[in-house]
Amino acid sequence: MATTETADEPWAAQRDASWYNRPNTRTDKVVHVAGKPSLYGQMSRCGRSVLNEDLMWSLEGVPEHVRCQGSGCRQAWPVATRTASDGRHHP
Ligand SMILES: [Zn+2]
Repeated sequence: MATTETADEPWAAQRDASWYNRPNTRTDKVVHVAGKPSLYGQMSRCGRSVLNEDLMWSLEGVPEHVRCQGSGCRQAWPVATRTASDGRHHP
């Protein structure tokens, strides 16, 4: 059955670490953009992880340093978050 693409708000989540038998504490903080549902749960757009649906984020609410930069997730993040108030990149 095809899922509707119209009503779904994009959301993001960390991967479901409990699903893996080797949790990696360094990458557990990465937040992925939700992609397609799979047999195992909600997949990330980069296709690397099953997401923890117990803790959803809005895309705008995810800090840049924890955003997944994998292909698929990377293109989905909103780009308007870099403002003049953050002067770290431009001295
Ligand atoms: Zn990802």
